[in-house]
Amino acid sequence: MKPVGPIPSGYATVDGELAIGGRTARALVAEAGGTPLFVYSRAHLDARMAELRAALPARVGVNYAVKANPHPAVIAHMAPLVDGFDIASAGELRLCEAAGIDAGRISFAGPGKRDAELEAAIAAGVTLNCESEGEGARALAIGERLGIAPRIAVRVNPSFAMTGSGMKMGGGPKQFGVDAERVPALARHLIAHGAEWRGLHIFTGSQTLSAEAIIEAQANVLNLATELAEAIGGPLPKLNMGGGLGIPYFPGDTPVDLAKVGAALAERVADLPEVLAGTELCMELGRYLVGEAGVYLCRVIDRKESHGTTFLVTDGGLHHQLAASGNFGTVVRRNYPSAIATRYGAQGEEEVNIVGCLCTPLDRLADNALMPRAEVGDLVAVFCAGAYGATASPSAFLGHGPAAEILV
Ligand code: PLP
Repeated sequence: MKPVGPIPSGYATVDGELAIGGRTARALVAEAGGTPLFVYSRAHLDARMAELRAALPARVGVNYAVKANPHPAVIAHMAPLVDGFDIASAGELRLCEAAGIDAGRISFAGPGKRDAELEAAIAAGVTLNCESEGEGARALAIGERLGIAPRIAVRVNPSFAMTGSGMKMGGGPKQFGVDAERVPALARHLIAHGAEWRGLHIFTGSQTLSAEAIIEAQANVLNLATELAEAIGGPLPKLNMGGGLGIPYFPGDTPVDLAKVGAALAERVADLPEVLAGTELCMELGRYLVGEAGVYLCRVIDRKESHGTTFLVTDGGLHHQLAASGNFGTVVRRNYPSAIATRYGAQGEEEVNIVGCLCTPLDRLADNALMPRAEVGDLVAVFCAGAYGATASPSAFLGHGPAAEILV
């Protein structure tokens, strides 16, 4: 038997079924026209933002990293809740524009920005988080051609990373950002050549559950920003401090102690050095804002036995939930939080392997999991599906196509 991860709070049982936003799983599937289906919960998005606002000092803004979930309804819902949007492509820019988000609230990071992407961002007035000297030169040239001073911040490749981070974004050679020691020269060059100086972006890692690691990273980021701002000369307009707050996916994971992170940050920002005194500060968060707000629902198509093992074969799979299948950067496969949505809250009765419909043994949603007995037609729920699900999975693989998505 292998345990499943912890189911996020805020999900209810109605008539023996999982309910999201007050509607049962079956009702949601009927409304969406079938399975597989991602359901995103407004109530969860709102609750998470309220918790964050309560914990963080008012001085520190919250940006939404659109890559976590670029569904138009999710972007539109987040628009009045967050301060800014961080995008990673011109495609994400178009989604933000379609949601009516002002370009002044958007910043664009990511290596390999094409000229057309730089042009679209500069023309719109988006801040570019510049990833290299070469990108800076192209941005200046495009700005000159358009007759627009490009808004540019420099993304720093720091010499440290967030410890305990699922994905480290600093500390050694990286394709992201400019090595810290070269940042002052680049910043001065950009300013001297007509860029509108927007400050620094220092993103050190993601998916961290340790408050101590986050506090340490934030302290390092503020120290580095201070040094760099002094070396550049003059006050820093803005500092994107990165994010990194993770969510519990696996057995034994516990939530980030947000109160502790907020208290340490409040203490730190109450005592900033002169060069950061007027700096606009923000954090950049993706999965922490939306991950627990999403549930992936798929249907049991077949129930079969093989050598004494029961398989629940669903119409879902890794083509929508690559991360839950264990194939998105995990070394050892562990079970995401999952349940039989149509028998929610019922006692576990049997050990099953819940698999998808793709013809690869990689396509597993839960291994050796204790579940109530499920029959063909029952619905399976995979939780923590609000981030890096629908758009971070190979939905064209084997021709099954994408899952539907609804916000309730
Ligand atoms: N911003 C940048 C620059 C990133 O590299 C990442 C993830 O790697 C994120 C934001 C979002 O991270 P998360 O969804 O874990 O908050």
